Amino acid sequence: MAEYTAPRGTYDIMPDDQPYWRHVASVAHSTTALFGYRQIEPPIFEAASLFTRGIRERPQAGRFRQLFQFNVEAIGSPDPAADFEVMSVAWNLYETIGLKGLSFQINSIGDRQCRPQFVKTLQAYYREHFDTICDDCKRRVDTNPLRVLDCKNAQCQPIIEGAPRTIDSLCEACASHFARLRQYLEQAQRPYTVNNRLVRGLDYYTRTVFEVWANTLGAQSAVCGGGRYDDLAEVLGGKPTAGVGFAAGVDRIVMAMRAEEIEPPALPSPQVLVAYQSEAAKPVAVQLAMRLRQAAVRAVVPLDSRSLKAQLKQADREGVRFALILGDEEIAGRTVVVKPMDGGDQTTVEMDTVVGRVVGLLGS
Ligand SMILES: [Zn+2]
Ligand SMILES: [Zn+2]
Repeated sequence: MAEYTAPRGTYDIMPDDQPYWRHVASVAHSTTALFGYRQIEPPIFEAASLFTRGIRERPQAGRFRQLFQFNVEAIGSPDPAADFEVMSVAWNLYETIGLKGLSFQINSIGDRQCRPQFVKTLQAYYREHFDTICDDCKRRVDTNPLRVLDCKNAQCQPIIEGAPRTIDSLCEACASHFARLRQYLEQAQRPYTVNNRLVRGLDYYTRTVFEVWANTLGAQSAVCGGGRYDDLAEVLGGKPTAGVGFAAGVDRIVMAMRAEEIEPPALPSPQVLVAYQSEAAKPVAVQLAMRLRQAAVRAVVPLDSRSLKAQLKQADREGVRFALILGDEEIAGRTVVVKPMDGGDQTTVEMDTVVGRVVGLLGS
């Protein structure tokens, strides 16, 4: 017989994890609404060519997996106010989630005007150090030069330290854009560090690159990245359209919440369990549970006939506030026993009025 497991690189998000995921989604919805953003839900798959075009470095094989992320994009404005706004959405989001030690890392990688000159300067510098750098960087110097600046190999770190900085080669328009973004950040008192290692490998990225950093597991690390991509629409065959945005991995945020012991709000759980003594009482229990749900009371009824004691244990486990008990005596008299699970006195209530009574008790 075949054994079925989740496809490689995917996983199930189990009930105990759901409060985290729902909370992140809920904060994402409320934060973006605060800024007046509207939602697009794209299809779960797209033509691979949309993502592979323009990539110089081959995507790593065998790393297909399902990603849970949301993106925030401000399309149409080349103004640094848009960069600041998108960065503020990210900031507010992580702040509302409760992550501590938030800060921005920012950089500007220029545009079509000024980047070619910077790339020449960078390549000349790297050629001087060609014997010292790693094999990846040796290749990248020609194929994807900006990416040498975010190489993680130890031998390249001193070379990166001494490398020319993108922000020293900006044209006037790019320099002014970056200066105005920094003014906005300073005005809002957002801590930021200019980081020459923040670069993008694709040509359509322009000017601002940023990351949000937070304290996770006692160290500062990036929780999201974003930036400006004014040339993307053209690369995809559209008319020139400015854009700036960021991507946030939901699993990344959930991991950070767990690391920082941030408790998400609990999800709604059953309020009432309807227990029954005998098989004959079961249809009455099922019907009573339906009446409770019609009155918006979250009710469960044990589906397999077990002892009353086992059913009350289940009520304990589910954390319900009341167990409604249908014994043989109650069935005969068309009544129900209402038992508070916190140990209060139980009462016997008429079957016809029990739903109203439970609603009242739950409200009090
Ligand atoms: Zn390297
Ligand atoms: Zn420029």
